[in-house]
Amino acid sequence: MSKFAAASFKGQKVLIRVDFNVPLNDKFEITDDTRMRAAIPTIQKILADGGMVILMSHLGRPKDGPTEKYSLKHLVPHLSQLLGGSTVLFANDCIGEQAYLTAGMMRPGEVLLLENLRFYKEEEKGDPGLAEKLSKLGDVWVNDAFGTAHRAHASTAVIAQFYPPEKRFFGYVMEGEVIAAEKVLHKAEKPFTAIIGGAKVSDKILIIENLLEKATDIIIGGGMAYTFMKAQGGQIGKSLCEEDRLQTALDILKIAKEKGVNIHLPEDSMIADQFAADANTAIAPSNEIPDGWMGLDIGPLAAEKFATVIKSSKTILWNGPMGVFEMPAFQKGTKAIAVAVAESTSNGAFSLVGGGDSVAAVNQFGFTDKVSYVSTGGGAMLEYFEGKVLPGIAAVG
Ligand code: AMP
Repeated sequence: MSKFAAASFKGQKVLIRVDFNVPLNDKFEITDDTRMRAAIPTIQKILADGGMVILMSHLGRPKDGPTEKYSLKHLVPHLSQLLGGSTVLFANDCIGEQAYLTAGMMRPGEVLLLENLRFYKEEEKGDPGLAEKLSKLGDVWVNDAFGTAHRAHASTAVIAQFYPPEKRFFGYVMEGEVIAAEKVLHKAEKPFTAIIGGAKVSDKILIIENLLEKATDIIIGGGMAYTFMKAQGGQIGKSLCEEDRLQTALDILKIAKEKGVNIHLPEDSMIADQFAADANTAIAPSNEIPDGWMGLDIGPLAAEKFATVIKSSKTILWNGPMGVFEMPAFQKGTKAIAVAVAESTSNGAFSLVGGGDSVAAVNQFGFTDKVSYVSTGGGAMLEYFEGKVLPGIAAVG
């Protein structure tokens, strides 16, 4: 049992850093409440123990202090609904008299939501003064905001110094993310296949470098594959290419060879005569793309080969799509990978999908429940994959 699950918060004021950075429309309606729903089990555990919950979060990127558009008050009715109709108190400042008074009068079973932390520029600056003021609100601090775990902000990391180690906890969201990431990065059962896609080599170099130390196989798809093709003398037409990364691509291939890591590049591609949903398309070897054409998805041979590697893996990490999956004409490759990852998972492999667009793709294709874990923290998970220490995790430690 985890430290959080084992603890009793009876009679305690529990200050939780959540990630309630949800999208709102023009009428301040929540258009995707995934992040709020994710925090409910953590909140309910504390309430069930007989504790009091004080929630703090950021919302959007306010530049000039309090702004109606970024007020967390818009979340109160929905939060109350998610908590089965419980009253949710609101303080229109995250520190200050009203926040302290409201927190001071709370009773077991009550929930208080504080106003947007980023109305203070000190939050993102990691100001200890703000962190100390926030810490006065809670007897214990729970960090459950994985989405901001890669930032050393006042509420996500700096606040930790005002609590002794036994009063610092991960909530269930953080715990789930950390356990999944650790399973892949430090306890991977072999063969371990990393599937890396997306647009740019430059965005993924650190991840690939870290994975060269850990994976048995690395599948490289998406736009970044063409830089690897060109670096090896291939013709790539007008496919995406980072000219300044050609040497990096060669270095990665060389290191992989030295370390005995198998790098799999797409043998063929779905090519198009323009970057458009209704472009003319054809299949071509990825290193023989005619002038004027570009690779926008992996081809059928590549998809089959990648699927074979995936299906014989025991651990799978997937970051980045295999093609321009937003356009139906170029989503076959990404879908084929999703099918293979799902099949491998049903045969006992552990699969983690993390970071931006691969998560969107898995959701779009309806595979969310067919993989072991889908990370909610885009940037944070990417930095975790890069092997960095995340301040929000280290702070709880
Ligand atoms: P990333 O955020 O780096 O994971 O990149 C995701 C983006 O890469 C998606 O919007 C895809 O449409 C895009 N992408 C994937 N493959 C290609 C490709 N072959 N050419 C251009 N863009 C691509």
